[in-house]
Amino acid sequence: MKILIASCLLALFTVPIQAQAQTPEQSFDEWIAALRVEAIALGISAATLAALDRIEPVARVLELDNSQPEFIQTFTRYLGLRVTEAQIERGQSLLRQHAALLEEVRERYGVQPHYLAAFWAIESNFGRNTGGFSVLQALATLAYDPRRAEFFRRELLTALQIIDDGHIAADAMSGSWAGAMGQLQFLPSVFYNYGVDGDDDGKIDIWNSLPDIFHSAANFLSESGWRGDERWGREVILPANFDFRLTGAGTRKPLQEWKDLGITQTSGAPIPVADMNASIVLPAGAAGPAFLAYDNYRTTLVYNPSIFYAVTVGHLADRFTGAAAIQRMPENEQAMSVVEVKELQARLNALGFDSGEPDGRVGRRTRSAIRSYQRESALPMDGYASIQLLEAVRPNPVLN
Ligand code: CA
Repeated sequence: MKILIASCLLALFTVPIQAQAQTPEQSFDEWIAALRVEAIALGISAATLAALDRIEPVARVLELDNSQPEFIQTFTRYLGLRVTEAQIERGQSLLRQHAALLEEVRERYGVQPHYLAAFWAIESNFGRNTGGFSVLQALATLAYDPRRAEFFRRELLTALQIIDDGHIAADAMSGSWAGAMGQLQFLPSVFYNYGVDGDDDGKIDIWNSLPDIFHSAANFLSESGWRGDERWGREVILPANFDFRLTGAGTRKPLQEWKDLGITQTSGAPIPVADMNASIVLPAGAAGPAFLAYDNYRTTLVYNPSIFYAVTVGHLADRFTGAAAIQRMPENEQAMSVVEVKELQARLNALGFDSGEPDGRVGRRTRSAIRSYQRESALPMDGYASIQLLEAVRPNPVLN
């Protein structure tokens, strides 16, 4: 789950850093002492706050937070790591095993079992990989670091509140390096706001209790707008003359309009029309598959605002119900290195298409520059950075 970190990053652009953030001369121990004062004022007990005595910053957390990948992940690789035959079979088996519980959850929250299983698979490999960090230590490390101090300080205080409420012991509160906890990787604020005691034992245990895990995740999805009578989306075929400027989650149209534009199912049959809006999303650009994405796709983005993530959750859920593999995966999709993305940005800038300071990241400005270049070059305007595009903007090689 990444959403709250993303909204925090947005907030940093508009809100000045709070005074509570670490000042350069404040040692970690002094910082903990100030945190303790704030926690006491919030009513957190001395017994819970004793856990702060054992906390130290974790170098590995900052290392992971600062790590820069050398290559930009491709959709082919992202999907291939998460949607495998073994994973599909395991999901189907677990759906059978927990059918009664998942049906009870569907009736209460309106989230279909195969989607819950897909989130469960991707967040923690069905509970096998929930992260081995102490959540208090990880959050304290990130809160002491000045960059997103206020956001992680609030999460740390909420984690202490959860311990104080008796749901879990401080030493057992494990999670990812960024503080995401349990089998569905909830941040403390999500646990606090949406956690449900599904097995009625008085505690919310998102690490071990499947009723608590499924009830909590379904409650979060339901409150975020999930529709139990709709699917997430479907793979479609775009007509040859399709205007790629219409792609992206920013453009929503009624299904009838997409149908009138000539979009079909992969079988060639017309798309089913209901009173729903949808967007066209292209996780691998015009050379890859196209998906008609409905409202549940947008709700999946609330969980984690990544196109790869949302398409993969939806597709894995489809596969659990026996659907076919994605039909139009790109052939030989090549990963761009960060160095190559920087070169692409510099060359676009030199050609007069403003992609900002080359930083190796494909953001909104770079996509917009790519689209302008594609318009002038009569290429499909998918705004997608690729090796092929980089080769196109390089000066022509001297021909012998
Ligand atoms: Ca419980």
